Amino acid sequence: MRVCGECTACCEGWVTSRHLAMSPGVPCEHRTDAGCAIYERRPDVPCKQFKCAWLQSTPESLPDEMRPDRSGAILYFRAWKQWSRVLNVMPAGRKVPDTTLRTAQEYAAENHMPIVWSERVEDFVNDDTLTRKAMGPSEFMTQVKWDFVPEDIWSPDQSV
Ligand code: SF4
Ligand code: SF4
Repeated sequence: MRVCGECTACCEGWVTSRHLAMSPGVPCEHRTDAGCAIYERRPDVPCKQFKCAWLQSTPESLPDEMRPDRSGAILYFRAWKQWSRVLNVMPAGRKVPDTTLRTAQEYAAENHMPIVWSERVEDFVNDDTLTRKAMGPSEFMTQVKWDFVPEDIWSPDQSV
């Protein structure tokens, strides 16, 4: 089973949570260079429950280079409408690096999952606008065009 190791990408504000104060470019106040300062008493939601797709995968399906601190993006699964697993790709920075995006798209295709990836504006610290692109079956593409709502994307306690 994989472990996070030196990665702290999900503590750095690239994915947000209604439960913790952090935002793109502004890490969680408890994050330190040595890891989480409150590790033993970190919140259950989202900290203990969140597992990115890399952490849940094997090296055969998502290689070690795809660990978020190395790949420049956090991949995670969400259930959305009738789709039990949608692969979300959130940049750890402004944009998902091209090689990471290609690997994520191949992984989604091999596993028959729709995929959504995001891009931030240049000044993302002051403007949290995200644009999203998606790939998947035509029904998914129609739904995502009209209905996809970012909301709280980190917590596993919501269904979108
Ligand atoms: S992004 Fe994934 S590998 Fe990195 S700390 Fe979070 S859960 Fe662990
Ligand atoms: S409380 Fe700890 S584990 Fe949770 S986001 Fe902050 S630094 Fe990360």
